[in-house]
Amino acid sequence: MTAKLIDGVALSRTMRAEVAARAAALRERGKPPALAVVLVGDDPASQVYVRNKIKACEECGVHSIFERYDASLSEAELLARIAAFNADASVHGILIQLPLPRHIDPQKVIAAIATAKDVDGFSVHSAGCLVAGLPGLRPATPYGCMKLLQSTGIDARGKHAVVIGRSNTVGKPMALLLLQANATVTVCHSATPDLAVHTRQADIVIAAVGRRNMLRADMVKPGAVVIDVGMNRNEDGKLCGDVDFEAVRQVAGWITPVPGGVGPMTITMLLVNTLEAAERASV
Ligand code: NAP
Repeated sequence: MTAKLIDGVALSRTMRAEVAARAAALRERGKPPALAVVLVGDDPASQVYVRNKIKACEECGVHSIFERYDASLSEAELLARIAAFNADASVHGILIQLPLPRHIDPQKVIAAIATAKDVDGFSVHSAGCLVAGLPGLRPATPYGCMKLLQSTGIDARGKHAVVIGRSNTVGKPMALLLLQANATVTVCHSATPDLAVHTRQADIVIAAVGRRNMLRADMVKPGAVVIDVGMNRNEDGKLCGDVDFEAVRQVAGWITPVPGGVGPMTITMLLVNTLEAAERASV
């Protein structure tokens, strides 16, 4: 068997076109959607991420307000900027690019963002809404994984899903979203003694570890859906995921490539969250 590819680039394109249409509808009503993006310091990777997010906003007709500060910005000054964005009805989403300089407590900063504008979905309140099954903004990467899964036409209900990784930003919200979709969920992590015992039983595997080739073909049930969140570099410096793609695609039913799978969906879901926040604010 050769797995069907789950094309994150194509799905992303379709979803961004929908975002653009929704953004145009809001603009027509005089309520243009807007995302505030704050970058503190000069971390090179963060600069690239921020640039890509702003570019995606522009392409979809979402207004972006970009503020860049020197690494010496104080925590109090950053909290004051967040308070100003919270109070500004023309701003619908607030994104503080992480990591922050060491003297700024990220938890305090994230907690300061109004829940209705928490488009990263990283606050304790947003996480609590997810746990409680209440409406709210969901973290972009696992939200994107759910859309990729849905694009296969396979219903998660009653399926056994194994999530490898338990970070607050990917693994845990991923498990909760799958649970909400009525999957039976197993979460594996670095203290899981025999990972393959779990993954071999899985109808759906989500790999979110950050270790190349950690999911091998002999660990996958024939026909399973495999979604690869990992972002690693091989010895040639080429981007690759956590899954041994060439071998696993011979066993799985569906598989996401890296690049071109989860990656493009993450920024797309940030745009979707911004639109959801703007639409909720406009009623
Ligand atoms: P993270 O915070 O480092 O979490 C990694 C998780 O993997 C941890 O829960 C860890 O377990 C677990 N783990 C480590 N070794 C393991 C092993 N041998 N067996 C099973 N589990 C193991 O990373 P993250 O932020 O969740 O990101 C995971 C990967 O996704 C990274 O490669 C990251 O770059 C990528 N990523 C991609 C996107 C995208 O847009 N494509 C977005 C976000 C992240 P413990 O909790 O026990 O330490």
